[in-house]
Amino acid sequence: MSVGVLALQGSFNEHISTLRRLGVEAIEVRKPEQLDGLSALIIPGGESTTMAKLANQYNLIPALKKFGATGKPIWGTCAGLIFLADNVLGQKKGGQDLIGGLDCTVHRNFFGSQLYSFETELEVPALVEAEGGSHTFRAVFIRAPAILEAGPAVEVLADYTVTHGESEKEKDANGNKEQKVAVAVRQGNLLATAFHPELTSDTRWHSYFLKMVGKTHTSVLNSLAKTDVT
Ligand code: GLN
Repeated sequence: MSVGVLALQGSFNEHISTLRRLGVEAIEVRKPEQLDGLSALIIPGGESTTMAKLANQYNLIPALKKFGATGKPIWGTCAGLIFLADNVLGQKKGGQDLIGGLDCTVHRNFFGSQLYSFETELEVPALVEAEGGSHTFRAVFIRAPAILEAGPAVEVLADYTVTHGESEKEKDANGNKEQKVAVAVRQGNLLATAFHPELTSDTRWHSYFLKMVGKTHTSVLNSLAKTDVT
């Protein structure tokens, strides 16, 4: 199986080295035709406006949408999460052309500016169940987005409670000091994290994603085999 990493801007090199460390063929994607034949795609963190502009210049958006529609797995980290969300808050007027597919409302800069970048230990039961290891994951948040609402088909894998001071802008409507937001979700073939697993040495999120890819692979292969027989 070969996994593509959108390589327009941001932390694509880090994803590529983690995939290679896990023995997977990793391909830099900059042109629509480079998506052909890939088993899955990772959209890295970076700056979603810049990434969207470049994706438009390279005529990638329709091809990325088509790729998502095939049911092949896509994992978006941070800016990648913004790319996958159906509804994005905090965008400039006119917005940016994104891929969509993930039934979520995402606030683009929920945690504020660079000043509010932080690291924290997250409880991620699904990750521990699938991959073992420590019961927490050290997550790096950099000008991070957050998932404020998620549709019924979306499974929340990790959430985070923001306390006043970490997010000056986003207190809930009642003025409460605490607000719980989702920071890792899965919806069928889509995986999205508001933080950057590619910037840590813990490879469990990459292994988790590769298992999703393996499963899709097997079901695609099985259905092809069935088609052959009939
Ligand atoms: N909030 C950033 C954006 O709008 C994403 C930050 C990141 O990917 N580290 O693109």
